Amino acid sequence: MKKLFDLTGKSAIITGASTGLGKGMTLGLAAAGADVLLVDRTQCEETAKEVAAYGRRVAMLKADLSRMDSIEPVVQKAIAEFGKVDILVNNAGIIRRTPALEFSEKDWDEVMAINAKTVFFLSQAAARDMVKRKYGKIINVASLLSFQGGIIVPSYSASKGAVAQVTKALANEWAQLGITVNAIAPGYMATNNTKALREDPVRSKAILDRIPAGRWGLPDDLQGVVVFLASPASDYVNGHVLVVDGGWLAR
Ligand code: NAD
Repeated sequence: MKKLFDLTGKSAIITGASTGLGKGMTLGLAAAGADVLLVDRTQCEETAKEVAAYGRRVAMLKADLSRMDSIEPVVQKAIAEFGKVDILVNNAGIIRRTPALEFSEKDWDEVMAINAKTVFFLSQAAARDMVKRKYGKIINVASLLSFQGGIIVPSYSASKGAVAQVTKALANEWAQLGITVNAIAPGYMATNNTKALREDPVRSKAILDRIPAGRWGLPDDLQGVVVFLASPASDYVNGHVLVVDGGWLAR
């Protein structure tokens, strides 16, 4: 059974690994045995230190992933450090909160660029290496707003809808190449992304009242799920969007 979830000798790229869910998932992959390349526009030293404590190899790359010219160097860095890419976690993302009547083109484009466009093109770049060995695990970070409309976050909802659909489109094409493409849809998690919500007493209470688990999720709540989707345990799971929300969608 242990072998099913073992990532020893596997090399993983994780975007947005500096903090929040990206950091939580990185530590899960490292605990299961993976070597990791941490990619973020800000420093990842703290995450790197914790990975090293597991005895794994760790590398870092600072990059603004909303730029197309940042994408290929990510895969090249992983190959230079570890020789290959086995696992890609497309986690980096942003959110902009403004009512739709006032929503700007800038906020639309910036959210779509990192949350949706980069997910596709970084997956493409990683898959071009994965196909050489007919092996790869791509894990995208979707959202409850892949299913629901959300409140005053129109570009975010659109981008996360795109993540769910790209996940399925790529799974369809790449299953025959030995690559699985799945997504995790986290519920309401306590990170920088939701700081404004947690500081708004009305929204915070409304959200908490609807979560059957009775608490906000934590980055550590994604560890088991990301290891499952990155490991042989999920070899016949493809094109799935796995909700991790303390029961929110079931209510
Ligand atoms: P966060 O803001 O704490 O972390 C996001 C990370 O992505 C940061 O380290 C940031 O520097 C990095 N990043 C953002 N834009 C980047 C860019 N252009 N280039 C490189 N790095 C960039 O947020 P989080 O909550 O940990 O979010 C992680 C992912 O989970 C996002 O895709 C988010 O949409 C998704 N998500 C979060 C929640 C939640 O409740 N927190 C729920 C559903 C989905």
